[in-house]
Amino acid sequence: MSLTGMVYRPPYEANSLLLQVTQGCSHNKCTFCYMYPDVPFSVCPVEQVAADIEEATRYCPDVERVFLEHGDAFVLSADRLVQIADAIHARLPKVKTIAMYASIQNIRHKTDDDLCRLHECGIDGLDIGVESGLDAALQYMNKGHTAEEAKEQLLRLTDAGIDYSFNIILGCGGEELWRENADATAALINAVQPHLLFIGTLHAEPGCRLYQDMKRGLFRECTFGQLLDEQERLISGLELKDTIYFGSHPSNIVPMQGRLPKHKQAMIEAVREKREQLRRHLNEYPQRGGEGSILNR
Ligand code: SF4
Repeated sequence: MSLTGMVYRPPYEANSLLLQVTQGCSHNKCTFCYMYPDVPFSVCPVEQVAADIEEATRYCPDVERVFLEHGDAFVLSADRLVQIADAIHARLPKVKTIAMYASIQNIRHKTDDDLCRLHECGIDGLDIGVESGLDAALQYMNKGHTAEEAKEQLLRLTDAGIDYSFNIILGCGGEELWRENADATAALINAVQPHLLFIGTLHAEPGCRLYQDMKRGLFRECTFGQLLDEQERLISGLELKDTIYFGSHPSNIVPMQGRLPKHKQAMIEAVREKREQLRRHLNEYPQRGGEGSILNR
């Protein structure tokens, strides 16, 4: 099976078959991103994908979930994705779900009919880096979408029956806008009612623009105290019917998982408890480690 370059996948895809259908990311411009800096975006040849599916029939014939690589495989046309899904189902008949990373732009470029066709062939569980509901933060992070566009496209996905993970990054607004970031992000999440929330915390690795901006003082990251305040404010502002909160990313100060609204108060208490534990360090800046689930092949 050919998987080129660094391979990233969400933690809950640990048991999925990783099938490469694109290389790199078609956007590749997010201010904080260091995933594919030197990887020109390309689409994998049909023959390579077919050969990889054939190889998978030998070592994981009973696999039930496939995750398409790399950074935004949902950029592929609906026709190509249906073709890939048909090839998977033909050779791996137990596959129920075909998931992948997707951007708001990727959804925008598909019609409602496309989305319904994709749902019908098992494409589900998209992993979407929405990051924030605050336009100023989205613009600085160069996400290529506004909060209103994210809302519109995510509601289209829901209408088509496609579930997704709404990924957010605490600290996207920096020291100046953490309150606004919490409030606007909670409002966007409430408007779209995602099935899954995936929470990470902003950190910059050498090689991305954010790292350079931080070094030059052009972006002032949040302190421990501000990140905890932002997290509490965000959770407090969430009015959800039934959403999984997946916050175990290693960048998070308070790793936790739960269900909202059921565990809302317990989560708020957990943040307050951590603030109390860190009371002597609230004005300091966290030193964070590497990005979450990275498979280095
Ligand atoms: S964060 Fe995702 S969408 Fe943005 S450049 Fe990186 S891989 Fe592409």
